[in-house]
Amino acid sequence: MDIRVLGCYGSHLPGCGTTSFLLGETILIDGGTVTSVLTVEEQLKIEYVLITHAHLDHIRDIMFLVDNIFYLKRPDPLVLISSPGILQAVRAHLFNGRIWPDFFSIPSVSGPVLKMLPVDAGDVLNIGSWRVTATPVNHTVETVAFALESDTESVVFIGDTGPTEAIWAHANEKKHLKSIFVETSLPNRLEELARVTCHLTPRGLAGELAKLNRKDIPIHVFHVKLHHGEEIARELQDLPGHNRISVLRDGQRIRL
Ligand SMILES: [Zn+2]
Ligand SMILES: [Zn+2]
Repeated sequence: MDIRVLGCYGSHLPGCGTTSFLLGETILIDGGTVTSVLTVEEQLKIEYVLITHAHLDHIRDIMFLVDNIFYLKRPDPLVLISSPGILQAVRAHLFNGRIWPDFFSIPSVSGPVLKMLPVDAGDVLNIGSWRVTATPVNHTVETVAFALESDTESVVFIGDTGPTEAIWAHANEKKHLKSIFVETSLPNRLEELARVTCHLTPRGLAGELAKLNRKDIPIHVFHVKLHHGEEIARELQDLPGHNRISVLRDGQRIRL
């Protein structure tokens, strides 16, 4: 499985996009940066968007992706996957006919270009060869982390979160765990801001990684606030076991 980093920052600046990972050709994890980096042909191959939460930096380009799919007349809809509450937030506050058209009923209520597939905590959804679960994490709004598992590999994506528990216990159960993607947004000296906004610092990340039994799994850090990027990178270097930790860059491709 190839994972392409379309956007991986907690800020938006030229050349630096917000969260979006492309798994293979058909599955997106978050939709912060899609239409500005993928060709039309690549966009038309996307079937599913797994949404960690409804903050705009994680969903913004879904608006333009579904708009392209509609006008290019792709027959199959785009399917949004998340918890029922997160999907309702996206529908009510983005695709509400005011901020953006309600593509859940366009071109018709019975055959829309945008669909939702809710997944409750503890349930397993089958997408192609993947078994997908969504585990609630600790952020300022309802947010989930995703685990994807096939017969031979599994990968865990932990987007915006403060200190959390259940997803680490879930990761510890995965037999073929290959990688963990996890946020680290702020430097250690902004620990209080991290606490209030429910994000991690490098010190907070160390506390989270202590909950992971396996100490050999590659850790891919993302959602760095760019204004603090160098400071965060230095602090990550000081963590125990820092050799397995890498900070992602836009455009990177990772092979599990
Ligand atoms: Zn957020
Ligand atoms: Zn975010």
